[in-house]
Parts: sequence; structure tokens; C-alpha cells
Amino acid sequence: MCPKYKLEEKVPRCMYCGAVIGLATGRPDRKFCSPECKNAFHNANRKITTSHYHDRIYRMLENNYSILKHLLAMGVTSIDRRTLRELHFNHEYSTSYSKLGHRHHYTCFEIHYDITPTRAINIENILDSQPE
Ligand SMILES: [Zn+2]
Repeated sequence: MCPKYKLEEKVPRCMYCGAVIGLATGRPDRKFCSPECKNAFHNANRKITTSHYHDRIYRMLENNYSILKHLLAMGVTSIDRRTLRELHFNHEYSTSYSKLGHRHHYTCFEIHYDITPTRAINIENILDSQPE
């Protein structure tokens, strides 16, 4: 290989703006031309990661919510967890959790339920049970 080409290959470029990083300043393993580019790169990456992460959680919650809502529409207030799993319910995603005595109490928006080792019980839409 042409030695000049090899040398060109090794010119370090900023990971954000692509500018050639000056070799005279800074550490030899620098990845960015400036602190501004370094921050911009990390901020851009963080935004993407956060939004993917949020989208995933929203999807899981919406999915759980629609399953619970369907169950309530059918008059089901107690169901075994295996069936729930088969419906693709994932109880690791909830909008709140509290331990009330021996009860593991969860909410998915306005729908509340308790999780026992084998069942989801006391499924209830608190807006429906409110006195008129
Ligand atoms: Zn740069």
C-alpha cells in the first residue's frame, strides 16, 4: 500500500463534524475537534436513546392497558398470570407499584390490580367505581 495513503487513513477526524483533528494539540486519541462537538455528539446520542427507551415503555404500557381494558369489558376481574402472559401482558410495566400489607398493588393508568404468585386479581377501573 502507498505509504502516503496509509498516512491519510490515520488522520483523526471529529466524530461529530468530521473535521480533521489537529494533532498538535490535545491527546493523540482525541475523538472530537472541540468540547462543543463532543457535547453535541453525546447530546444527540442521548436524545435518540431516550426516545427509543420511552417509546418502548409507552408501547408496553399501552399494550398492558388495552388488555386490562378488554378484560374489564368482558367482566373479568381476576385472571391467572399464565393466561395474561399468553395475551402478551407484561406486569413489569406499570404506572405505579405499592405493597399494601401482603398485597402487591399495581396500576396501569386508572386501572388497578393486585398481583399474586399465580394470578392478577381485583382488576378495577377506579374511574368506573367512583360514586356518581
Ligand atoms: Zn467537530
